[in-house]
Amino acid sequence: MDQKQITVTSPLLPDLDEFQGLLKEIWDCKWVTNNGQFHQQLEATLCEYLKVPFISLFTNGTLPLLTALQALRITGEVITTPYSFVATTHSIWWNGCKPVFVDIEESTCGMDPDKIEAAITPRTTAIMPVHCYGKPCDMERIQAIAEKYNLKVIYDAAHAFGVEVNGQSVLNQGDLASLSFHATKVYNTLEGGALVMHNAETKKRVDYLKNFGFAGETEVVAPGINSKMDEVRAAYGLLNLKQVDEAIEKRHQVAIKYREALRGVKGVRFFDDMKDVRHNYSYFPIFVKAEEYGKTRDELYFKMKDQGIFGRRYFYPLISTFSTYCGLPSSAPENLPVATKIANEVICLPMHHGLSDEDLSRILDLIVR
Ligand SMILES: *Cc1c(COP(=O)(O)O)cnc(C)c1O
Repeated sequence: MDQKQITVTSPLLPDLDEFQGLLKEIWDCKWVTNNGQFHQQLEATLCEYLKVPFISLFTNGTLPLLTALQALRITGEVITTPYSFVATTHSIWWNGCKPVFVDIEESTCGMDPDKIEAAITPRTTAIMPVHCYGKPCDMERIQAIAEKYNLKVIYDAAHAFGVEVNGQSVLNQGDLASLSFHATKVYNTLEGGALVMHNAETKKRVDYLKNFGFAGETEVVAPGINSKMDEVRAAYGLLNLKQVDEAIEKRHQVAIKYREALRGVKGVRFFDDMKDVRHNYSYFPIFVKAEEYGKTRDELYFKMKDQGIFGRRYFYPLISTFSTYCGLPSSAPENLPVATKIANEVICLPMHHGLSDEDLSRILDLIVR
């Protein structure tokens, strides 16, 4: 019995004929990168769609994190979460700063504001939280702590494309917010990313930094990097933006069906929508308590895999356990009890715009017994 494989995600692809039309325009004008017309259009259109004042496009979602720390001249220690994709902590390390891990809250999988103050030292200069699975962090409390100790806040908002609280984009919180447009994300440009900022001055500095620090033909004002987005991906991004709302709504319907079927399954926890939040349904994590469910997380995970259903254990193992970071004092599992427990319980179920009812039945038949 060769059943179709069901992957955790599937890229949202624009219409190929429309894309070819835009490629033809790029070929005709021969301007393929360096702030071309599609790059400019995509920045303007994204500002409108995301309800943010300024945005700067990048070639992936890791370089905006790296550049955010550069732009704010962050040094010393940066407080962050071990429960994320490894790029979050890598960006701190690449800046020569020391990551300091704090534990997460079980209710959101975001950084626990109660744990932040104890991690602050005289060397702390910034906090880098993650809106994990697109669930907004406790931004008010994080901001209050940042102001009390004069720290910068850089949100890794890679999962939070289009997420709003009370009609306000979460991307407007903190000093900077970073997005990823990788193929696996809700909105993609194949590879891509962006930084969201509050003012034109910061955008100017970020735009310099992503182009080697050039501030004109002959002037280099900072040790910048090359992380510009090209015209081909900007054009692709413009087309995808037209269909992303529909894709999010399809994900919403999948979430509704998962919740209906899983509510009442003993030992399986999942998230409901938060009040006053516009979610993007980027992931559908479930948390398996072996004693109540009767199977461990890994038993379920491998059983699904055997049947061609590829969930992912995001985020296991914790970043703090990787060889570069496991020696840091804050990496001790005793310091991270909630993250350690959650990392051992989580499976992200397949979640994308293309899942059929038949796919969902196959997945749920395996989980619900
Ligand atoms: C995907 C992701 C990134 C990195 O994005 P890339 O575009 O793959 O470089 C960073 N942080 C988080 C939390 C992510 O999920």
